[in-house]
Amino acid sequence: MKLYNTLTRTKDEFVPHEEGKVKMYTCGPTVYHFAHIGNLRTYIMEDVLEKFLRFYGYDVTRAMNITDVGHLSSDADTGEDKMLKGAKREHKTVLEIAKYYTDAFFADCEKLNIKYPDVVAPATSCIPEYIEMITKLLNDGYAYQAGGNVYFDTSKLKNYYVFGNVDEKDLAVGVRDSVEEDSNKKNKADFVLWFTKSKFDDQELKWDSPWGNGYPGWHIECSNISIKYLGEYLDIHCGGIDNAFPHHTNEIAQSEAYLGHPWCTNWFHVLHLNDETGKMSKSKGDFLTVSLLEQKGYDPIAYRYFCLQSHYRKPLVFSYENLDNAVAAYDKLVKRIANIPDEGEVDTDLVNAQKQIFIDLVGNDLNTALGITKVFDVLKLDTNGATKRFIIGEFDKVLSLNLLNPNKKPVNHGNVTPEQVEEIEKLIAERTEARKAKNWAEADRIRDELNARGVILKDTAAGIEWTVK
Ligand code: AMP
Ligand code: ZN
Repeated sequence: MKLYNTLTRTKDEFVPHEEGKVKMYTCGPTVYHFAHIGNLRTYIMEDVLEKFLRFYGYDVTRAMNITDVGHLSSDADTGEDKMLKGAKREHKTVLEIAKYYTDAFFADCEKLNIKYPDVVAPATSCIPEYIEMITKLLNDGYAYQAGGNVYFDTSKLKNYYVFGNVDEKDLAVGVRDSVEEDSNKKNKADFVLWFTKSKFDDQELKWDSPWGNGYPGWHIECSNISIKYLGEYLDIHCGGIDNAFPHHTNEIAQSEAYLGHPWCTNWFHVLHLNDETGKMSKSKGDFLTVSLLEQKGYDPIAYRYFCLQSHYRKPLVFSYENLDNAVAAYDKLVKRIANIPDEGEVDTDLVNAQKQIFIDLVGNDLNTALGITKVFDVLKLDTNGATKRFIIGEFDKVLSLNLLNPNKKPVNHGNVTPEQVEEIEKLIAERTEARKAKNWAEADRIRDELNARGVILKDTAAGIEWTVK
């Protein structure tokens, strides 16, 4: 498989550190507001990447942080804290805001068929680890204390700007808002590892540390959560392109200074979704959410289809007209699939050959648009309906467009966690397979197991639906 790597600026053959295993890290949301559909473009493309890697045969472990502390709108001690801003806006505590928007984020993900990562860790869950890392960085001369804060000293690195030469005047690019000068810093690019004497002393969440009562800077969370759950060698790190600088650049600086060896080999960045007026941003006030699309009558999966039609390394412009075109194409595709008769024996040789073609196409720098074209091609294959449906079902393990089950509506899954949803859906799929193979004893056994978990199955024209007692 080939993937463009922001670090080497070329399309590289993807080779994980340990054969057959992939350690994947994704920067998670800053939970001070709903995710906009631009954020979700990034998560959709990362989801396809993860599913493709699994389809390819890798054993993937994926971790994601939840930024619930420390994300300032500027990178030094100058910008307002985003979480605090959200809490003030809604007259709630920071933790209440974090819980509400974390749940909202995963609810959006479920609607878009985005898989729940293997590990999800809030930034506030790893404070002792940050303290340990910062202590080592200070001891090894990579960090210094100034004005009550601890800073990373970027002048200690041979090559700080790993993703290319960043013009000093562009230092504000990834930090979104204007950057005021922080006079504590020795070098312009230095960044805060730990705050104790912030300009903003109304911070709600603070912890004791060797440098006084305070809170971590933004970048330290991703380095730590990744190393804690995925080990010292990371195969792929993902995020939106705005994260490349300074967030990912700073993650690399502190992780490699701490570990003493190269850390992550592949950097996967998704280009932005823009609206017709320019970049989408939560601070603009009104912004596009999945709920808004639903209110306007759109199926969230049609938005997923819209995203998959474009390459992740090209900026994408959102307009309702563009979305309507995607909806029309998606509807046409699923209608044609629904008309395929489920008859005949599945031709396994053909399935394998088609899977290989799909892998070659999509595996060339995650070309999801060609993956969709390939689904249209399957409709024209000279084979029986059962084989066509089977192949499409296989491709949909990566695309996740409900191609065989387009009317699947989000149903009430009660208090079931996303991991349990996955287990239940796996059992339902196994039961469907058992029934197809006329293995009634196995199908009944699975039904009993689901019953024991309180899952009620309902056969509908659109397939099996399930609810929890
Ligand atoms: P945030 O919640 O602001 O930390 O952002 C969550 C993710 O969305 C990060 O990976 C960002 O890089 C990404 N992101 C932010 N804006 C956009 C956009 N307009 N289009 C695509 N991805 C974005
Ligand atoms: Zn991150």
